[in-house]
Amino acid sequence: MQIANDVFEISFNKGDEQFAQKVLGVLEHEQKCIMDFFELDKMSKKVRIIFYNDLQKFIDLQTQNGKYPNRYQGWNVATVKNGDIHILNFDLYRKAPQHEGTTFEDYNKTLTHEFVHACHEEILIDKNIMPPLLMEGIATQLAGQTKYKLKSTIDCEARDLIENFYATRFSYAFAYEIMGYLLDTKTHEEVLDILRAPQNVDVQELIDNTNEYLTQSRSLSPRK
Ligand SMILES: [Zn+2]
Repeated sequence: MQIANDVFEISFNKGDEQFAQKVLGVLEHEQKCIMDFFELDKMSKKVRIIFYNDLQKFIDLQTQNGKYPNRYQGWNVATVKNGDIHILNFDLYRKAPQHEGTTFEDYNKTLTHEFVHACHEEILIDKNIMPPLLMEGIATQLAGQTKYKLKSTIDCEARDLIENFYATRFSYAFAYEIMGYLLDTKTHEEVLDILRAPQNVDVQELIDNTNEYLTQSRSLSPRK
């Protein structure tokens, strides 16, 4: 079964119509602001949202061997593939070990986060190159996932964030703060230029500048 607006098309299972309507309502509220950020008048195609009530089907979407891809420490709960958002349904999502206690609001932030990825893909100069650091940074920032706010500075190697992002502890929080620094200190056009070719940034320089910014603006002390 399906419902749609000008940007989204939601596929859902029987009995989930009310839930799908609620989700569409939330996304309708967010879509303009996010598309405006990326200066997109329209998407190249409708973004389909597919809910999964079967965990194995969701895993099979991302891997051949029937197990979660190695890069995830725990459960991956949502992903963008070919411009479409695949996400565990709300009940299944909350069974994921690190997502117990997820509220409907958190769930919607995840959907918004995935939509940011879909929009970001639209502006990439080279669609094959999407390094996770800036991609997760802009998604956590625009989705308002303030749970990633750091209480200290970034204490990892640039290499970890470039080569091993998903296996690095606190990587989403580091990405959130690095993008926060860019959004606070660069013009909108400068940020967009960076996001169009995210592979060109000097990650070590970004870490250093962000740490200096965090230390000054929030009086944080370096992590010991
Ligand atoms: Zn993401």
